[in-house]
Amino acid sequence: MSSDAEATGRTENTDRTGKADRIRELMATEGDAVAENTRGFNEGRYESTGRLDDYEALKSEARDIKEDAIARLPELIERVTETVEANGGTVYLADDAADANRYVTELAAEERDADRLIKSKSMTSEEIEVNEALEAEGVEVVETDLGEWVLQLADEAPSHIVAPAIHKSREAIAELFAERFDPDDPPETAEELTMFARERLGELVEDADVGMTGANFIAADSGTMLLVTSEGNARKTVTATDTHVAVAGVEKLVPTVEDFAPFVELIGRSGTGQDVTSYISTLTPPVDSPVPDFERDADPLADGSGDDRDFHLVLIDNGRLAMREDEELKETLYCIRCSACSNACGNFQSVGGHAFGGETYSGGIATGWEAGIEGLDVAAEFNDLCTGCSRCVPACPVEIDIPWINTVVRDRVNRGDVDPGQTDWLFEELVPDEEPAGLDLSTRLVGNYETLAKWGSRTAPVANRLANVGPLRAVAERVAGIDRRRELPGFASEPLVDWFEARGGAAVSPADATREAVLYPDTATNYADVDRGKAAVRALEALGVHVRIPDLPGSGRPPLSQGMVSTAKAAAEDAYGGLAPHVDAGRDVVVIEPSDLAMFRSEYEKFLPERSAARLADASYDVMEYVFGLLENGGDPAGLRAPAAGTGPVASGTRIAYHPHCQARTIGVGEHATAVMERLGYDVRVSDTECCGMAGSFGYKTDYYELSMDVGEPLREQFGETDRTVVAAGTSCTEQLDALLGSAPMHPIELIAPRE
Ligand code: SF4
Repeated sequence: MSSDAEATGRTENTDRTGKADRIRELMATEGDAVAENTRGFNEGRYESTGRLDDYEALKSEARDIKEDAIARLPELIERVTETVEANGGTVYLADDAADANRYVTELAAEERDADRLIKSKSMTSEEIEVNEALEAEGVEVVETDLGEWVLQLADEAPSHIVAPAIHKSREAIAELFAERFDPDDPPETAEELTMFARERLGELVEDADVGMTGANFIAADSGTMLLVTSEGNARKTVTATDTHVAVAGVEKLVPTVEDFAPFVELIGRSGTGQDVTSYISTLTPPVDSPVPDFERDADPLADGSGDDRDFHLVLIDNGRLAMREDEELKETLYCIRCSACSNACGNFQSVGGHAFGGETYSGGIATGWEAGIEGLDVAAEFNDLCTGCSRCVPACPVEIDIPWINTVVRDRVNRGDVDPGQTDWLFEELVPDEEPAGLDLSTRLVGNYETLAKWGSRTAPVANRLANVGPLRAVAERVAGIDRRRELPGFASEPLVDWFEARGGAAVSPADATREAVLYPDTATNYADVDRGKAAVRALEALGVHVRIPDLPGSGRPPLSQGMVSTAKAAAEDAYGGLAPHVDAGRDVVVIEPSDLAMFRSEYEKFLPERSAARLADASYDVMEYVFGLLENGGDPAGLRAPAAGTGPVASGTRIAYHPHCQARTIGVGEHATAVMERLGYDVRVSDTECCGMAGSFGYKTDYYELSMDVGEPLREQFGETDRTVVAAGTSCTEQLDALLGSAPMHPIELIAPRE
């Protein structure tokens, strides 16, 4: 290794240690509070959206409105300028944060000579750091949202886009109030703390000169704003003073007031799990309610008049109009900042937004916001924390493909981060990827898992013995960031494709078959977990299927997970090229590894012509989904293994603990295994943990090993003491459950397949 490379290696090691230390610290200090609150929000979301008959239709409606609004954004900016000005207000389009802050500070400090500005919660105002700008001009800023006020007192940044102080426990807030105010009778309960804050904030509001809000939505046709809050403080902020400044990103514009409707239904349910958020305010500023005179204790509104109210709408660009021109980042602008993607995310639940976030925004979609507003460097700091598990996708009320945005940004970061001095010519010769030289070695290694697996299989069992030898693991950890605490999976010396050919191919002839299927030899099944492939062949043949296992390339999932988009695209084209003749011939494509099926059903639409992607998606099935379909269509279950026929671990009974794969849940195939097992007589308990925490290669990385285990902890709690036989479908889940429980689960197809 050259001295340059050695230096790079040391820097990477130092970075890794620092990142792992930070994550460990946040898991210890903030993780419990974040986990408890976000999981509570998720339960509320499931219950609340479950009561909606038209949830999916509402999401599509919301999506259509945002797509239309962003497409027409320049026109909507012009329109809202006309309507607000006709209403008596002023509109200012700020190019960036400095421009917005200059306008606001001139207004508050110079024109209004304000001593105090009160604010209701606004992430956009956090983004431009308007508090600091105002305070530099001598204007005191008071946050009136309880969570924001707590953070202002603690001098901390928000850790969640809707519940900014989600990381603070009640005890921590009580301690903070006691320290800051030294009250005679320190508040302790949630109610006491809220009342304490309310009294102090009430006094501060009475002496304010200017009120600042954000806006959840603004109707261009009327200048009407929709404000959604939990505490009603936005209403006080708007009405308590004669000057109202609303600071909002340009993406908040929608064409009409009618367009608010689906968002009112969705925003509270998606974020905090409430059917309707506590306060939904629609106002067309300047509002005409009288300006209160708080000197008149008895009746502050007695002589008030709304005639002199002043309103300023500051629309912020700050990178958004450029994002609108960026085909990949544009989708970020559809975000309504509900926080569902944060709450749904296993990693976020463990560390919160102080690790999983950038300068302002946190959670899965933060990568898009921070890349567009701050730049790739900021996005790169936390982008790795999105594992692509896809649990956020069905939770997003505007159907944003959040993992794809993270993948695209990772690809850009990879390409911007290449180290031209890195000596990886040897690796370049060995791996057939499409990436530039100098790519981070860990990224390149994992992204080329298919090549590694081929070599591992060819050289097994020697490769398997060497893979877990201490000194080699130490090198792998230092050079490639593969954590030595993880046991590396072994490779099979006879791949599934070779085994199938050696046995003479299909046991059921096409003439006798009920269906013809191609069993896709995904990389993990073909080179490592061959037994589940063999079990799939036995099960399908027991149901009268003519099975083929052609030698096909990998799906591109490993490079995609590393942000190696060009390599993943090339793999997708190759895999489709191999599968297309079978699809043309009317054969079904049966897939064992859920993350590969998710590629065929979801991600390939990004890589293949629309018709090709749709054909493959329609022809592809999860192996348990396929068995379910065969049984539903008259297949005889007698050939499958019912519990009474089992011996060995399965003989212990009918009782099964099943963990479905996260991506299988997202694409709607997680439940078929349960249905099949129950039909055969098994008593199945399904895990309520949505993500095991392993997420492909994520859990192998030194930076994230402990986080991965923490995310998996609820699964260990649920299945750790079980006397049930544990089954799981995904390779990652299998490895994580092995680490968590001390024994590897089997795939459900291995449970139900007839014995060899
Ligand atoms: S990306 Fe979707 S789920 Fe996440 S905050 Fe935005 S709207 Fe909500």
